[in-house]
Amino acid sequence: MHSSVMDPKKLADTFQRLVRIDSISKEEGQLVRILRPMLDDLGAETIVDHAGERIGGQTGNLIARFSGNRDVAPMLLSAHMDTVEPGRGIQPVCKDGIFFSDGATILGADDKSAIAVLLEILRVLVTRDLPHGPIDLVLTICEEIGLLGAKHLDFGHLRARFGYVLDSRDTEAVVIRAPSANRFDIVVHGRAAHAGAAPESGINAIALAAQAIAALDVGRIDAETTCNIGLIDGGIATNIVPDRVSVTGEARSHSDEKLQRLTRRITEAFENTVDAHRSEPGDGLPRAEIHVSEQFARTDVADDHPVVLLARRAASNLGRNMATRSTGGGADANIFFQNGIITGVLGTGPLDIHTVRESIALADMVRAAELVMEIIRLHAEA
Ligand SMILES: [Zn+2]
Repeated sequence: MHSSVMDPKKLADTFQRLVRIDSISKEEGQLVRILRPMLDDLGAETIVDHAGERIGGQTGNLIARFSGNRDVAPMLLSAHMDTVEPGRGIQPVCKDGIFFSDGATILGADDKSAIAVLLEILRVLVTRDLPHGPIDLVLTICEEIGLLGAKHLDFGHLRARFGYVLDSRDTEAVVIRAPSANRFDIVVHGRAAHAGAAPESGINAIALAAQAIAALDVGRIDAETTCNIGLIDGGIATNIVPDRVSVTGEARSHSDEKLQRLTRRITEAFENTVDAHRSEPGDGLPRAEIHVSEQFARTDVADDHPVVLLARRAASNLGRNMATRSTGGGADANIFFQNGIITGVLGTGPLDIHTVRESIALADMVRAAELVMEIIRLHAEA
């Protein structure tokens, strides 16, 4: 079995080297300059696509195509290169086999543990000439700021129609369902007036938005649906009736029908509130300007899809379990799925991501590497 050839020390070194390289979203340039030659040295054909230019980042997505030594269907393997703030000058510290930051920053195990795991796997596969089919390695930019790298990925470079994204926690689960999400940007327009001298001639946009929000359910709507008002911004001074407030939020559901219904409820709450306060005849105020955009579409891989069965068989060969999971979050996998690549999300073990307490056990990274190695071996021998 391949698992015995994984070298935890090398994996740890690679991981620590990667997290020390700053790569905040849109600033992944330096990381690409380091990763690309490493992948070239492993014999991959590497491409940096044009996503970076489209979204105003330092670099595009890094794609590395490995030809493999077995004639089987190409497999996608993917992770994201960007990290959130505070993520500059990360100093990894290792205590009893667990990596932490020094407390001032995140650790960046989300998702550099996955990049380290994938690099180590590819190094072992290539240097030992172990059986493996063609692999499309996709290292994306800007996952953390709305999956922008994946959304602008040049899919024409990819051969794979199935594969795995490494970007979650549990090393004994594959995430195969994720919700669709809509973002809404709403501006309520009222009328400005002096709050003390002539409040009657004003229309308070903040008060109207508050009424509309109060009419909504937010938080968990049901087992598969959530709603959040995340940002609100308006007003100028205490003595001015505010004529404008913007409200931004999102709705998610694993059911497209429920998402549509919820999105309609949100829209109607604002429309009904402003309609009820409009004076006739008037200047059309108050009014609500509503913009709804799709953030990502639902992922839904069948439990008996080969992508799941392959992960299950690999886990069972290693004497482990492999559960299928649903997530409330969106990931690059949603975008791959939307583009016809059936993708499961595997975990590498990071805990408390997006916080300065973020940590990861080396043992979990090793487990993730062993699992993916076994997946690749099983697939090559199919
Ligand atoms: Zn991530």
